[in-house]
Amino acid sequence: MRKNLAFFLAIAVFTANKCFSQDISRVRAYLDTLCSPSMHGRGANFDGAKTAADFIKSEFQKSGLKPIRDDYFQHFQYDVNCFEGRISLQTDKKKLVTGKDYIANCISRGGHGNVRALFLDTMVFYNENALKSFLSKKTKNKAVIYDVKFYNKLIEKPEILDKIHEGKCIIELHDKKLTASLSQKQFSNSFFQVAKSSFPDGTKKVRFKLDAILKKNYSSQNVIGIVEGSGKSDSVIIISAHYDHLGTMGKKVYFPGANDNASGVSMLLELAKYYSQKENRPKFTIVFMAFGAEEIGLIGSRYFTENPLFPLKKIKFMINLDLLGTGDDGMTVVNATLHPEEYNKLLEINETLKLLPAIKRRGPAANSDHFFFSEKGVPAFFFYTLGGISAYHDVMDRPETLPLTRFKEVFSLITTFVKKI
Ligand SMILES: [Zn+2]
Repeated sequence: MRKNLAFFLAIAVFTANKCFSQDISRVRAYLDTLCSPSMHGRGANFDGAKTAADFIKSEFQKSGLKPIRDDYFQHFQYDVNCFEGRISLQTDKKKLVTGKDYIANCISRGGHGNVRALFLDTMVFYNENALKSFLSKKTKNKAVIYDVKFYNKLIEKPEILDKIHEGKCIIELHDKKLTASLSQKQFSNSFFQVAKSSFPDGTKKVRFKLDAILKKNYSSQNVIGIVEGSGKSDSVIIISAHYDHLGTMGKKVYFPGANDNASGVSMLLELAKYYSQKENRPKFTIVFMAFGAEEIGLIGSRYFTENPLFPLKKIKFMINLDLLGTGDDGMTVVNATLHPEEYNKLLEINETLKLLPAIKRRGPAANSDHFFFSEKGVPAFFFYTLGGISAYHDVMDRPETLPLTRFKEVFSLITTFVKKI
């Protein structure tokens, strides 16, 4: 039995790799397109996500995928705070570099000013006089600056936090890298996250400019295409990846999102192409879903689970792909503990075909688009690769530095796994 399985797997992977290995340049081309300036970081900013959705739709069409109803798009709306206009930050005479030295916090309001700097004295947490002195200061027309490592202490002291929030501008200093995110709300201040090493000690004045717009009911879409299976069962397999990312910081600087998640979308497109070839026709129908608005809180995938285009009960298994551009240290399977039988299948395939250095097991987590499906009882795995680069939610997540270390191996793992589900 074991020998037969090994033989079967070896044939399967040979076929998959043969088809695939000629086309790593195509994967690179997908990445370059999805991460290009014309996609503006695939957010609501400059409708970059819509451009990405149109690209995915046209690739689905080229591969011969069918729309699930009349259209490949499932539309939905959400609110999002966007920075599409002016952005600048200057300390005394030093002009900081957007994206590298600083980013606007996702909840930031627009504003501008040339204001005095007020550093939060950390003695406020330990000394009553220091606290009194800080609370007696006027912060209204100032830039208030604090170190993020004191944030946990700050939230325990609402009176200090309130005083900071009266500031015209808030500057949070970070030792570690600057990590961006998205918000559905807008705060009352202009708010920047700044690399501590880029912010001179003893800064006297801060000059800033920021245009922020809270887009209400911004229209987005999931892109859905299917490859019909050869079997009689009406159960389907879902392969999904979110195509959106964090958009822009002003007009020019954008978050390319190569690993997160142009890598997963490229895998999705490769799998769609593979399964639409006659010789690779799957037994079960495969529904390919490219979700929008993941980065702001899994909105696109949640919308699908609340407005499904077919009964969720029909889903035999879901494989969600997010962050597949590395693999030096293997990959992780979220929900492995919920589905031990399927997880063991992955281990067996990996052992036989020697694909990845490790396939790590993880329990449920609300960290990507499988989550709301899992919550509704759909059996689902989420795969992400490990090791390689540390770029994440920053301007360094670029296609030219994405190693794709185990991309082919993950492709083989998925195609072999789908055969065995
Ligand atoms: Zn992601």
